[in-house]
Amino acid sequence: MSNAVVVGAGPNGLAAALTLARQGVEVTVLEAADEIGGGTRTSELTPGLLHDHCSAVHPMGLGSPFLQTVDLERYGLRWRWPEVDLAHPLDGGTAGVMVRSLARTAAGLGADGRAWTRLFGPLTAGFDALTQDLMRPVVHVPKHPFRLARFGLQALLPAGVVARRFGSDEARALFAGVAAHAFHPLERPTSAAVGLMLIAAGHRFGWPVAEGGSRAITDAMAKMLTDWGGTIETGVRVRSLDELPPADVVMLDLAPSGVVAVAGDRLPRRVRAAYGRFQHGPGAFKVDLAVEGGIPWTNDACRQAGTVHVGGTFEEVALAERDIFRGRMPERPFVLVGQQYLADPTRSSGNVHPVWTYAHVPHGYPGDATEAILAQIERFAPGVRERIVDMSVRSTTAMAAYNPNYVGGDIITGANTALQVAIRPRVALDPYSTGIPGVFICSAATPPGAGVHGMCGFNAASSALKSLAS
Ligand SMILES: Cc1cc2nc3c(=O)[nH]c(=O)nc-3n(C[C@H](O)[C@H](O)[C@H](O)COP(=O)(O)OP(=O)(O)OC[C@H]3O[C@@H](n4cnc5c(N)ncnc54)[C@H](O)[C@@H]3O)c2cc1C
Repeated sequence: MSNAVVVGAGPNGLAAALTLARQGVEVTVLEAADEIGGGTRTSELTPGLLHDHCSAVHPMGLGSPFLQTVDLERYGLRWRWPEVDLAHPLDGGTAGVMVRSLARTAAGLGADGRAWTRLFGPLTAGFDALTQDLMRPVVHVPKHPFRLARFGLQALLPAGVVARRFGSDEARALFAGVAAHAFHPLERPTSAAVGLMLIAAGHRFGWPVAEGGSRAITDAMAKMLTDWGGTIETGVRVRSLDELPPADVVMLDLAPSGVVAVAGDRLPRRVRAAYGRFQHGPGAFKVDLAVEGGIPWTNDACRQAGTVHVGGTFEEVALAERDIFRGRMPERPFVLVGQQYLADPTRSSGNVHPVWTYAHVPHGYPGDATEAILAQIERFAPGVRERIVDMSVRSTTAMAAYNPNYVGGDIITGANTALQVAIRPRVALDPYSTGIPGVFICSAATPPGAGVHGMCGFNAASSALKSLAS
């Protein structure tokens, strides 16, 4: 029987472990932290309330071709949906609103409804087929070449060009907020890609949360792995490949810099140089709030929304994203607000609710963005400060210390530059290969990039299985 060691128990490490274990490989997972889960951990950051430390909303959890093949519900995972998936408030009390139903979303967008349907109707209808091609490395024989080509033509565009299809501030802002998940200036080529995918995923699956917190996703993966004979050890920080027990394959759920740190001189020089050139993106500054009675949004849809994007108009969001990319902290940053408790009341304590927020800030931003975050929320929810009874703050440096994959607070493990959207972490036929026989990188630094979908781990493990068979 072959055996494997997986370093890091994030969703991709666990997906790699499950993929190998399913094929009869004996798997041991080593995790540095005291808890598994990486970017899916959940705990009482404020007393009595369940806060997601990192990921919150999971359209790609349902949309992942890998996760669709494993029955995590059997191991305790329950998806929960809010009434409104996403709202983006504007000054004056209106908001761009997205719900799972494309028709209802279009109806809410008034005159822009037709353009919204024309853009997202085909993408949503073909979403499952599209993910089979998009969630793999760029070099492959496409299963659905025409669909992929059609998506590619739109995805190559700057988000600003795609947004010209819409006339209203609400529709333009709604698209801007989702496109900004890429942490990339909205006027740059390919900056539309992430927005197109996440909105299409939203119309296909909604933007659900996991009952009990995002940790429920990786807890279920870990239980499944244990059932399949795998073992997981926590509190084991791997500092060198030489420390690892003998293994046929080693999977590294690490940023390229982490791979360099543990593999050192064993990496071929050209791979080491390529990992050294890997670009990290801007950072995230996170503030988790305990809010009595919830946030008093002026706009009603925001009061029902699992996710609220706070940043004003398309132009304001674009300016903030441009600033952080250039290393400048904007006065009014783009802020994401998660109200997961609306879909999953088990996270609250009586009338006090956990609210998840983070601002996009420059890479390695050394300052405190708490006030800027609260000011942005208060702009659309006057009186919010009086309702805040507790908070927990994680700066960019604390984020990187919390998880070394988030270099400089880059929570998506790699900038979404035009090159790295398609080709990451280096130019290679097999992007998961580290050049050391049997050693693979499987983190979000590899295709298809960030998110809790496990596809990086699945794809990397598929490469590893091929190497075992050869
Ligand atoms: C604030 C925030 C908000 C986010 N929001 C969302 C969201 O709403 N939806 C979504 O889909 N995604 C979201 N993400 C992104 C998502 O969490 C990540 O893309 C995902 O967790 C990446 O998974 P991974 O397995 O590649 O890495 P990680 O989840 O980062 O896991 C890597 C693991 O490796 C461990 N490790 C690192 N170094 C070592 C070592 N030397 N030895 C042993 N173990 C080691 C780490 O402790 C960690 O557990 C968010 C992330 C953050 C931080």
